[in-house]
Amino acid sequence: MEKRRVVLTFPYQLIDQPITYHLIRDYNLVVNILRAKINPEEEGRLMVEISGDKKSLDEGMDYLKRLGVSIQPLVKDIRWLEEKCTHCTACLSICPTGALSVERKEMKVSFEKDKCIACGLCILACPYRAIEISF
Ligand code: SF4
Ligand code: SF4
Repeated sequence: MEKRRVVLTFPYQLIDQPITYHLIRDYNLVVNILRAKINPEEEGRLMVEISGDKKSLDEGMDYLKRLGVSIQPLVKDIRWLEEKCTHCTACLSICPTGALSVERKEMKVSFEKDKCIACGLCILACPYRAIEISF
């Protein structure tokens, strides 16, 4: 039995599709939804832990890719190091959930952990290494 923690990003055309149902029924996988964020007009994101044997997991991932779902491995934790942040805002446009945001008047960046889906996209965007991950 293997476990994979991933972020699934799917286009709005797929939002109504029973994707997790198919993963469970057709691929014999256990799907635990850790967090979900749906923008009906745009796209959906699911942070999930999927368990099953390796072959079923590989086939399930292939099924998702064929549908057009993007799959990113999930990191365990994200830490924003306020003392290192220069408030340059380079990370803001890359953050898909608004977990990193800026207060415009003072141009002060902040991090809301509750909104973070741990996709890890901000890590590479930050030139000052003010965001750390642990796997
Ligand atoms: S990991 Fe970074 S980019 Fe991804 S949601 Fe969290 S703060 Fe935003
Ligand atoms: S890119 Fe890094 S330094 Fe710039 S605002 Fe984001 S966290 Fe702060």
